[in-house]
Amino acid sequence: MTQVEPTPAPAPSESTPEAGAPIAHLAVAIVGNGFSGLGTAIRLRQAGEDNFLIFERHDDVGGTWRDNSYPGCACDVPSHLYSFSFAPNPDWSRSFSAQPEIHAYLQRVSAEYGIDRFTRNRHEVLDATWDDDAQHWVVTTSQGVWTADVLVLGSGALSDPSFPDVPGLEDFEGPVFHSATWRHDLDLRGRRIAVIGTGASAIQFVPEIAPVVDTLEVFQRTPPWIMPRGDRAITRAEKLLFRYVPPAQRLVREAIYWARETFVFGFKDPRRMAKAAKIAEAHMRRQVRDPELREKITPNYAMGCKRILLSNDYLPALDRDNVEVVTEKIVEIRPHAVVTADGTEHEVDTIIAGTGFAIADLPISHRVHGRDGRTLADHWAGSPHAHNGTMIAGFPNAFTLLGPNTGLGHNSVVFMIESQIALVMDTLRHMRSHGVGAVEPTRAAQDAFVEEMQRKTEGTVWVDGGCSSWYLDRNGKNSALWPTFTMPFRRRLRRFRPEEHVLTPVTPARAGRR
Ligand code: NAP
Repeated sequence: MTQVEPTPAPAPSESTPEAGAPIAHLAVAIVGNGFSGLGTAIRLRQAGEDNFLIFERHDDVGGTWRDNSYPGCACDVPSHLYSFSFAPNPDWSRSFSAQPEIHAYLQRVSAEYGIDRFTRNRHEVLDATWDDDAQHWVVTTSQGVWTADVLVLGSGALSDPSFPDVPGLEDFEGPVFHSATWRHDLDLRGRRIAVIGTGASAIQFVPEIAPVVDTLEVFQRTPPWIMPRGDRAITRAEKLLFRYVPPAQRLVREAIYWARETFVFGFKDPRRMAKAAKIAEAHMRRQVRDPELREKITPNYAMGCKRILLSNDYLPALDRDNVEVVTEKIVEIRPHAVVTADGTEHEVDTIIAGTGFAIADLPISHRVHGRDGRTLADHWAGSPHAHNGTMIAGFPNAFTLLGPNTGLGHNSVVFMIESQIALVMDTLRHMRSHGVGAVEPTRAAQDAFVEEMQRKTEGTVWVDGGCSSWYLDRNGKNSALWPTFTMPFRRRLRRFRPEEHVLTPVTPARAGRR
């Protein structure tokens, strides 16, 4: 692979670069510096590649683990598994890590692998357009334009907050903020708060703020299934063992991984979820005294249809005297109140949206233009799809990490990311050793993959579980989840398969650049 000095960033400017400024060329441009972008960068470095940059719109590594700093934010996948396989951390303090520890882990890994110097912070990618003659991407950022042979989208699915579409929200006179952009400057003590949403984020911050606020009204559209969270401190003896006997930590990681894989049996046959549902029901009976409240928050759909949540403190928080669960639909927001369908005005002074992310219509998909000039969003038309969840017909030399059909309801997405990075690396190797200038999946291979995803989703709890979730897109297709065990995903992406792709030799225009 090429070994050149990293391209210096142009002098910072506030907006797009001046016309006529020289354009630097990269082998690989990476968008976003979360687990995906950082992991790709590390693998590129390990392969001897020096000519790449990560463009990050914020000012630090971490992605979703940098942005989501709300009180109580933690991971519900155990720490030993929710980390890079090549960078184990023997010092995790708890079995389920809190956000600051995961963020610090990513910062440390970035520094240890020397990735910081390949990172361009505050460089938001505004546009990426494929130039078929030159066989490269033209990547326009807020601070300059680069060209790149290969584009890796590591911008993630949980990166752009989604606010509820309720009339009057903009006229509310108090603070309104999203869990992903927490207002740490705001003292919530004594406030009357409305929380909208009861998903994975809300159930983590509600117990943190409930004891300090005056009143807390939790607006629930669909109650989540909640299982006990087996969190505990990792002992000093365990940490020493993991540090000095690394195979011990690898063993624990494997054990967690395979235990979580067994959840797939339940997803594939909703009846198998009944046993787990009994545990969740008993958990609720133990934690909620009020039978009326229990009835309000008992899900009426099969467990697993939406993400199964883990918490030991959310249900007791709902049972507090200053907390009320509101199940009536929100119809309007007035300057000082949330109005529900029964006509009640719920007077509040602060609104916190725990309403998730723009997943089905990712903002980045409107900025990436393929060979025909149309955007990813145009191609996807509401149903994101990609061959192996990673490469997209019509978008040569582009990889989308944690792209369509790579989300999980049961295991660590870091496993999926690392599988995808293996494909990126093997594709690059193939391109270089075979003089390939442009590569993209064939429509037939991509269609077959998408069809397989839909087929494997049939009969699962996500379709037959009786809920509506963002796992199914607006066309009713599963474009979010990998619907089965994760090991076949790893095997499938281990090696690049030329027979499933259109390969175009290096053009003279590109050859001249080398
Ligand atoms: P989410 O799971 O999408 O939950 C959003 C919540 O907001 C749901 O309860 C939803 O209700 C509700 N909602 C949305 N629009 C609404 C409206 N207009 N009116 C009333 N309620 C509305 O979002 P999230 O909790 O931020 O989590 C997103 C994802 O982040 C999770 O699925 C998970 O993958 C990840 N996450 C992971 C962890 C972790 O521990 N690893 C922690 C936090 C988040 P409905 O259910 O009715 O749609």
